[in-house]
Amino acid sequence: MSGDPRAAESCIFCRIVRGEIPANKLHEDEDVLAFHDVRPQAPVHFLLIPKEHVATLYDAGMAQHRALGKMLALAGDLARKAGAEDGFRCIINTGRVGHQEVYHVHMHVIGGPDPVGPMLLRRR
Ligand code: AMP
Repeated sequence: MSGDPRAAESCIFCRIVRGEIPANKLHEDEDVLAFHDVRPQAPVHFLLIPKEHVATLYDAGMAQHRALGKMLALAGDLARKAGAEDGFRCIINTGRVGHQEVYHVHMHVIGGPDPVGPMLLRRR
């Protein structure tokens, strides 16, 4: 789809929220949606997003505290139910330096059974 990838109209995650493209959902309520990542990097890999279009964490504020809080509050239960019973990692990539590809705030939840490795590759 053409257009500004930061805009809600062309945002792929907004299209999932609107039901225009399919997703393998784990949870949905009035504020947030959780669905499996289409290119999983571990046996458990799903995304938690606010339903409201917010491009990055830079653009989020207290107006989003309910949805952002829910994303954290739901992560453990959803991770356990998805099979990550011995730990997981949450990642929110932000902006160019954070290597964000989809400009709609999302939290990756990534887990085992095997350890997911060090947080960042050490450069020195
Ligand atoms: P990033 O913006 O780099 O934090 O990551 C974006 C993530 O969204 C990647 O892990 C993609 O695999 C995932 N992704 C992109 N499109 C979809 C989709 N239609 N359904 C599920 N996951 C997606």
